[in-house]
Amino acid sequence: MPCPDLKGWQNSMGFEDAIRRVEPYVPGEQPKAANVIKLNTNENPYPPSPAVREALSRFDTDELRLYPDPAAEELVTAIAEEYGLSKEEVFVGVGSDDVLAMCFLTFFNSDRPVLFPDITYSFYDVWAELFRIPYKRIPLDGEFRIVPGDYHRENGGIIFPNPNAPTGALLPLSVVREIISANPDSVVIVDEAYIDFGGESALPLIREFENLIVVQTFSKSRSGAGLRIGYAMAGAKLIRYLNDVKYSFNSYTMNRETIAAGTACVRDREYFRETVARIASTRDRFIPRLRELGFRVQDSAANFVFASHRSIPGKVIFEQLKARNIYVRWWDKARISDYLRITIGTDEQMEILLQALRDICSANA
Ligand code: PMP
Repeated sequence: MPCPDLKGWQNSMGFEDAIRRVEPYVPGEQPKAANVIKLNTNENPYPPSPAVREALSRFDTDELRLYPDPAAEELVTAIAEEYGLSKEEVFVGVGSDDVLAMCFLTFFNSDRPVLFPDITYSFYDVWAELFRIPYKRIPLDGEFRIVPGDYHRENGGIIFPNPNAPTGALLPLSVVREIISANPDSVVIVDEAYIDFGGESALPLIREFENLIVVQTFSKSRSGAGLRIGYAMAGAKLIRYLNDVKYSFNSYTMNRETIAAGTACVRDREYFRETVARIASTRDRFIPRLRELGFRVQDSAANFVFASHRSIPGKVIFEQLKARNIYVRWWDKARISDYLRITIGTDEQMEILLQALRDICSANA
């Protein structure tokens, strides 16, 4: 927008008036100490595929003198092959946070509110505020479930995670389909950061719905939170719009080493399957044992569980675990302040956690 002639600009109140002020997203703590059991940011307890180590050891650092491929074609091709898509149907970014932020900027550009659940990934309202997108939080029901009928109303776009975070609750594909088909005039983003741990992906629906975009990440099921790779999958038209915005913002989002490591990572399908199965089985053994200690635990299809104790406040458990060097996530927020979100670690880590919880429960009985 070219700027019109401004009269009286000297009367401005000072340089801070024109600054974009936002309340940022607060990520989970990354404690520096070594002897910590870290179950607070849904990282994978297992290392990435050995193929990643190999790719990085082969990496020629002389190449760092050159800009990377702005299209990250090698990585895009590997992801497309993994999911049976064409390269034109895949977009990559620096973690799914980057991909989701680009999606907000590209697809949510209306005066009507974008809809998302009231209890969900707390970055959504931060991006909406940052980009000045109107939004409306739709309450989950009393059991923390998404009510699909609530998304049948005028909107400027829809986004929800499936499974939802921090609840871990999974929507069956039939319900995801119901939400998308009720909203042919909006872009619907399904944030599938945790889908590999037990859900059915909405990916096949991109053939049926041109307005659907599915976002996934290497941070959880592929053990690559430190790599920073996220990706979106959709029909070629949406991916083109997304790339146009990306190239208007920053062409070189993915660095050369990450492209090499990520390509090797996604190609090791066997390792991915094994790791995901291990975590899902640790989770399924952990949940009943947590219930035995007096916790209400939501069913979870993710690599974390959402739980509250029948008598001990969430904050107390959170603090007492932290004092024992065990980090879980707790939010001082309406409806969920008695809940803890606990990432599934190794069997050994979960045993140590259960012992600590047993001690905390008897000390606070
Ligand atoms: N979506 C959801 C629902 C998440 O919980 C997270 C993890 N914080 C992300 C997206 C972003 O993950 P990343 O940027 O590491 O891909």
